[in-house]
Amino acid sequence: MNCICDHLFTCFRWCDLNSLSLNEIKSETGVYAIRYDSKGIDIDLTIQKTKNFFNQAQWGSLNDYVYNRLDRLKSIVDCPILYIGSAPSIDAGGLKSRYRDLCGRRHTIFYPVLALLTAGWNLQWGFNKTDRPKKMEKELIDNYKQIHEVYPALLKRA
Ligand SMILES: [Zn+2]
Repeated sequence: MNCICDHLFTCFRWCDLNSLSLNEIKSETGVYAIRYDSKGIDIDLTIQKTKNFFNQAQWGSLNDYVYNRLDRLKSIVDCPILYIGSAPSIDAGGLKSRYRDLCGRRHTIFYPVLALLTAGWNLQWGFNKTDRPKKMEKELIDNYKQIHEVYPALLKRA
Protein backbone atom coordinates (compact mmCIF):
# COMPACT_ATOMS: atom_id res chain seq x y z
CA MET A 1 0.00 0.00 0.00
CA ASN A 2 1.48 3.33 -1.04
CA CYS A 3 0.46 6.72 0.27
CA ILE A 4 1.71 10.28 0.08
CA CYS A 5 2.59 10.00 3.79
CA ASP A 6 4.99 7.07 3.23
CA HIS A 7 8.08 9.20 3.75
CA LEU A 8 7.11 9.79 7.38
CA PHE A 9 7.64 6.11 8.09
CA THR A 10 10.78 5.24 6.15
CA CYS A 11 12.66 4.47 9.41
CA PHE A 12 9.99 2.06 10.58
CA ARG A 13 10.43 -1.71 10.64
CA TRP A 14 7.13 -3.38 9.68
CA CYS A 15 5.93 -6.83 10.70
CA ASP A 16 2.71 -8.72 9.99
CA LEU A 17 0.54 -8.48 13.09
CA ASN A 18 -0.66 -12.06 12.75
CA SER A 19 2.79 -13.56 13.11
CA LEU A 20 4.44 -10.97 15.35
CA SER A 21 5.43 -12.55 18.66
CA LEU A 22 5.87 -10.56 21.84
CA ASN A 23 9.35 -12.07 22.13
CA GLU A 24 10.44 -10.23 18.99
CA ILE A 25 9.89 -6.82 20.55
CA LYS A 26 12.31 -5.26 22.98
CA SER A 27 11.41 -3.23 26.06
CA GLU A 28 12.82 -0.05 24.54
CA THR A 29 11.30 3.38 24.05
CA GLY A 30 10.02 4.26 20.61
CA VAL A 31 7.16 5.15 18.36
CA TYR A 32 4.91 2.66 16.62
CA ALA A 33 2.18 2.64 14.03
CA ILE A 34 -0.45 0.28 12.72
CA ARG A 35 -1.31 0.13 9.05
CA TYR A 36 -3.24 -2.13 6.76
CA ASP A 37 -1.42 -4.05 4.07
CA SER A 38 -4.56 -5.25 2.30
CA LYS A 39 -8.26 -4.70 2.89
CA GLY A 40 -10.77 -7.35 3.88
CA ILE A 41 -14.54 -7.12 3.73
CA ASP A 42 -16.35 -3.80 3.59
CA ILE A 43 -16.04 -1.66 6.74
CA ASP A 44 -19.76 -1.30 7.44
CA LEU A 45 -20.12 -5.05 7.22
CA THR A 46 -17.05 -5.52 9.42
CA ILE A 47 -18.58 -3.27 12.07
CA GLN A 48 -21.96 -4.96 11.87
CA LYS A 49 -20.45 -8.44 12.03
CA THR A 50 -18.47 -7.54 15.14
CA LYS A 51 -21.38 -5.76 16.82
CA ASN A 52 -23.52 -8.83 16.19
CA PHE A 53 -20.92 -10.94 17.92
CA PHE A 54 -20.80 -8.72 21.01
CA ASN A 55 -24.56 -8.31 21.00
CA GLN A 56 -24.90 -11.99 21.77
CA ALA A 57 -23.52 -11.31 25.25
CA GLN A 58 -26.30 -8.75 25.87
CA TRP A 59 -23.96 -6.79 28.08
CA GLY A 60 -25.00 -3.19 27.58
CA SER A 61 -22.10 -1.55 29.38
CA LEU A 62 -19.53 -3.48 27.39
CA ASN A 63 -21.37 -2.74 24.16
CA ASP A 64 -21.36 1.00 24.89
CA TYR A 65 -17.58 0.88 24.96
CA VAL A 66 -17.03 -1.61 22.14
CA TYR A 67 -19.49 0.10 19.77
CA ASN A 68 -17.84 3.45 20.38
CA ARG A 69 -14.45 2.00 19.51
CA LEU A 70 -15.74 0.08 16.51
CA ASP A 71 -17.34 3.22 15.08
CA ARG A 72 -13.83 4.61 14.67
CA LEU A 73 -13.43 2.15 11.81
CA LYS A 74 -15.80 4.33 9.75
CA SER A 75 -12.98 6.86 9.48
CA ILE A 76 -10.76 4.50 7.48
CA VAL A 77 -9.88 6.04 4.13
CA ASP A 78 -7.35 5.17 1.45
CA CYS A 79 -4.39 5.93 3.72
CA PRO A 80 -3.20 2.63 5.20
CA ILE A 81 -1.93 4.20 8.43
CA LEU A 82 -4.51 3.53 11.12
CA TYR A 83 -2.75 4.55 14.29
CA ILE A 84 0.38 6.26 15.57
CA GLY A 85 1.50 5.93 19.16
CA SER A 86 4.52 6.05 21.39
CA ALA A 87 6.13 4.07 24.18
CA PRO A 88 7.94 6.75 26.18
CA SER A 89 8.82 4.81 29.30
CA ILE A 90 11.28 1.96 29.79
CA ASP A 91 9.88 1.49 33.30
CA ALA A 92 6.45 0.90 31.81
CA GLY A 93 7.89 -1.73 29.50
CA GLY A 94 8.48 0.32 26.35
CA LEU A 95 7.36 -0.94 22.93
CA LYS A 96 7.02 -4.51 24.18
CA SER A 97 4.46 -3.41 26.74
CA ARG A 98 2.46 -1.40 24.20
CA TYR A 99 2.32 -4.40 21.89
CA ARG A 100 1.28 -6.61 24.81
CA ASP A 101 -1.52 -4.13 25.54
CA LEU A 102 -2.66 -4.33 21.94
CA CYS A 103 -2.89 -8.13 22.15
CA GLY A 104 -6.12 -7.90 24.11
CA ARG A 105 -4.94 -6.39 27.37
CA ARG A 106 -5.90 -2.76 27.38
CA HIS A 107 -5.16 -0.88 24.19
CA THR A 108 -7.78 1.59 23.00
CA ILE A 109 -7.84 0.12 19.50
CA PHE A 110 -7.96 -3.53 20.49
CA TYR A 111 -11.58 -3.98 19.37
CA PRO A 112 -11.26 -2.27 15.97
CA VAL A 113 -8.08 -4.26 15.27
CA LEU A 114 -9.81 -7.48 16.27
CA ALA A 115 -12.75 -6.59 14.02
CA LEU A 116 -10.50 -5.99 11.01
CA LEU A 117 -8.50 -9.20 11.55
CA THR A 118 -11.65 -11.30 11.79
CA ALA A 119 -12.88 -9.63 8.58
CA GLY A 120 -9.87 -10.72 6.55
CA TRP A 121 -7.79 -7.55 6.76
CA ASN A 122 -4.03 -7.99 6.93
CA LEU A 123 -2.51 -5.61 9.43
CA GLN A 124 1.05 -4.67 10.18
CA TRP A 125 2.77 -3.22 13.21
CA GLY A 126 5.74 -0.96 12.61
CA PHE A 127 8.09 0.68 15.02
CA ASN A 128 11.13 2.85 15.29
CA LYS A 129 13.48 3.02 18.26
CA THR A 130 14.06 6.54 19.54
CA ASP A 131 15.18 8.27 22.72
CA ARG A 132 12.50 10.94 22.32
CA PRO A 133 9.34 8.97 21.59
CA LYS A 134 6.80 11.56 22.75
CA LYS A 135 8.40 14.25 20.59
CA MET A 136 8.62 11.93 17.60
CA GLU A 137 5.03 10.76 18.06
CA LYS A 138 3.85 14.37 18.07
CA GLU A 139 5.88 15.19 14.96
CA LEU A 140 4.58 12.14 13.12
CA ILE A 141 0.98 12.91 14.01
CA ASP A 142 1.35 16.62 13.19
CA ASN A 143 2.99 15.86 9.83
CA TYR A 144 0.38 13.24 9.09
CA LYS A 145 -2.41 15.71 9.86
CA GLN A 146 -0.77 18.27 7.61
CA ILE A 147 -0.63 15.82 4.71
CA HIS A 148 -4.07 14.24 5.08
CA GLU A 149 -5.91 17.02 6.94
CA VAL A 150 -7.31 14.38 9.29
CA TYR A 151 -5.77 12.12 11.93
CA PRO A 152 -5.13 8.43 11.32
CA ALA A 153 -8.48 6.63 11.32
CA LEU A 154 -8.22 4.97 14.69
CA LEU A 155 -6.56 7.88 16.42
CA LYS A 156 -9.23 10.02 17.98
CA ARG A 157 -8.16 13.25 19.56
CA ALA A 158 -10.71 14.63 21.99
ZN1 LIG B 1 -1.20 8.34 4.25
